[in-house]
Amino acid sequence: MKFDAFVLPFTIGLIFLLGYLAVKYSLWFIRLEKQAKSKVIGGFFSLKIFPALAEIVWESLLHRKIFKKNRLLGFMHMSLAFGWFLLIAIGNLESRVYEPSAMNPPYVPIFFKFFNSNPGVFPLHSVFSFVMDLLLLLVLAGVTLAFAKRIYSRAYGMKRTTKLQPGDRIALTALWCIFPLRLLAESLTSAVFHGGDFLTGTVGNLLSFLPADKLYYPAWWAYSLSLGAFFVCLPFSRYMHIPTEVVLIFSRHFGLTEGIRRTPVTEIEINSCSRCGICLDTCQLSFAGGIQNIQSAYQLKAIRYNNIRPQETFNCLMCGRCESVCPVGIDISNIRMITRNELNGRVPDPTFGSQTMPHTRKADVIYFAGCMTHQTPSIKKAMTAIMEQAGVNFWFMDESGGLCCGRPMMLAGHREQAEIMIAKNRKMILDSGASTLVTSCPICYKIFSQEYDLNLKVVHHTQFLLDLAERQKISLVHNAGKVVYHDPCELSRDIRIYDEPRKLLGKMYKISSSEYEKDNTLCCGNSLANFSASNEVRRKVAVDACEKMKVSEASYLVTSCPMCRKAFEKVSEAPVRDIAELVQHSIQKNQQHVSSSIKKIHRPAQAVIG
Ligand code: SF4
Ligand code: SF4
Repeated sequence: MKFDAFVLPFTIGLIFLLGYLAVKYSLWFIRLEKQAKSKVIGGFFSLKIFPALAEIVWESLLHRKIFKKNRLLGFMHMSLAFGWFLLIAIGNLESRVYEPSAMNPPYVPIFFKFFNSNPGVFPLHSVFSFVMDLLLLLVLAGVTLAFAKRIYSRAYGMKRTTKLQPGDRIALTALWCIFPLRLLAESLTSAVFHGGDFLTGTVGNLLSFLPADKLYYPAWWAYSLSLGAFFVCLPFSRYMHIPTEVVLIFSRHFGLTEGIRRTPVTEIEINSCSRCGICLDTCQLSFAGGIQNIQSAYQLKAIRYNNIRPQETFNCLMCGRCESVCPVGIDISNIRMITRNELNGRVPDPTFGSQTMPHTRKADVIYFAGCMTHQTPSIKKAMTAIMEQAGVNFWFMDESGGLCCGRPMMLAGHREQAEIMIAKNRKMILDSGASTLVTSCPICYKIFSQEYDLNLKVVHHTQFLLDLAERQKISLVHNAGKVVYHDPCELSRDIRIYDEPRKLLGKMYKISSSEYEKDNTLCCGNSLANFSASNEVRRKVAVDACEKMKVSEASYLVTSCPMCRKAFEKVSEAPVRDIAELVQHSIQKNQQHVSSSIKKIHRPAQAVIG
């Protein structure tokens, strides 16, 4: 068996890393609930394994999602991950082809050119030699780009990057050294034994002025030490994301999801954050509000290193913009909710939920306006008028105000109290015998559809009104002018209701489109989820959003959330309306049109009679 003392740092580092990961992942598995454990075991023996493996190749090695967002960044990640993977895989193949019968410990392919410094007799030598040099060049290109990104991230279209922890610094230094040291060790060896190819051979020739015979052995030591140092530091640095992302992909394909409280899945997600920084520039609190310490990369880092600060945890709009761009697909908003609950919800108030509830009324449809709609009365007036006009048998459940869906409490980290409230509301809803629950607020929609477990249809008023229009229960007229439609965060990114509001609005106006819509919609800044931002920050976010959506060129800025309507009203150059208000206006206009036509038809007849 081939051996030299310099392989020890690499070998010790590798054993440490594999041992650490085995213990850590076993503990996560042991702490999973019984049902989740069965999903994991079943998953490995099912067809789910194939899409999981495909995703690992596409996302962990080729970094397809990052490529789609930013080619240079994508190439940097791909060349490091895929290039290194191929160096290991093809290096292993090379050593097996070269000596099929030999016992090759893991270090032999890594240090192949030390142990086989002139393998000229080996038939595929020149092919392997060329391919390995090519792969080394690919990885070195990635290292150079990563180094350049640290110095000048703007060249990659990124305004901000994350700061390094001490563990990150050591791991990063070791990582940056690994491949240049490999090039040096292989080139010096080639200068002595003449075994290199286009890269290592050329560099070897260039270094021929050095005493290569004295330097090549220390260079192998340095290469092995850098590998060993990286492996030892990896679990304590952000590079823990490399193996953990693979675990995350498997667990996701096997059906494991984030719960409402911290579980091993949460730990897997937190450790899968690569701190790539993609979520930083997408945050409106950053680019419009000037707040630079609360973004998801920082929040996940704070949770991982047990350094959570309430001020930062609660200073977030929960708009989901960061989550929609995260290439790892981390359930960031849920993790922040869990953290808020850990900070605020430890001691439930037993007297909570004792407020007087309204009497349940039997009806076909329940209308729940929500507290924010009560603060924007024009929306609830429009909704009740439209439903009366369309002959809907409805019960305005929170007509006298006072009721809450429970979502604001959850956002504040009081899940237990919210659950008491949900149970009371749920009973009233079910007792009414209604088949449909209509909400005007996307936040209410989200919680009724996701947390209440109701056996009736929950719809947002945009869906409900479109249905009335399509069934010709209401008639709308088309108006001149173009409008901008703003997708509220919770209705779009979260619930993906994009088409119904557009179809409904399209019956009344032309809609101008912009890049800031649907998944890329902007938050109005007024979010109930933020408990720290000043009015000035909120205003800046709203002003910036109006500028980006070019509302000054529109007849109306239209939205379908009472909170967004209120926020934009204060800053928008164009008048702001909820879609329900425009529907009511359109119905009235249609009625006026019809009655004036009737008058016109009847007037000549009256003249004759007169
Ligand atoms: S949360 Fe996602 S986007 Fe943000 S740094 Fe982590 S991996 Fe990157
Ligand atoms: S949810 Fe919105 S406000 Fe909060 S960190 Fe993400 S992008 Fe920023």
